[in-house]
Amino acid sequence: MKIALIAHDRKKDNLIQFAIAYRGILKEHDLYATGTTGTMIEAETALPITKFRSGPLGGDQQIGAMIANNDMDMVFFFRDPLTAQPHEPDVMALVRLCDLYHIPLATNMGTAEILLKGLQEGFVDWRILEERRK
Ligand code: PGA
Repeated sequence: MKIALIAHDRKKDNLIQFAIAYRGILKEHDLYATGTTGTMIEAETALPITKFRSGPLGGDQQIGAMIANNDMDMVFFFRDPLTAQPHEPDVMALVRLCDLYHIPLATNMGTAEILLKGLQEGFVDWRILEERRK
């Protein structure tokens, strides 16, 4: 499965802790991330990650393009609900595309853990069939 990892600045530590805790599962998948998030997770976990531009410079939109191309299976996007983001429209666009294409999206640690456990249980295997339709 192709999994995207994104975190706003104040949530990056959260996502890094998540990636460390679930490294064993994440290493079985193809990981993608916005620039800064990906660099930090790679440094802490040694997981290989394909990195896009930084979020405010278009990275969220690059991941959105993958979703629109039926080329992304799951998104972990730890958003900061207390800080205004210069690229808020891009953030909303990414969430919208997840909703449009039924892509599982976790925006906080609580949901992220459930999503990853669902992945392990095979609840997201329908994405394998979807990808074959490309
Ligand atoms: P970053 O982007 O990983 O490059 O910090 C994340 C974001 O703010 O969308």
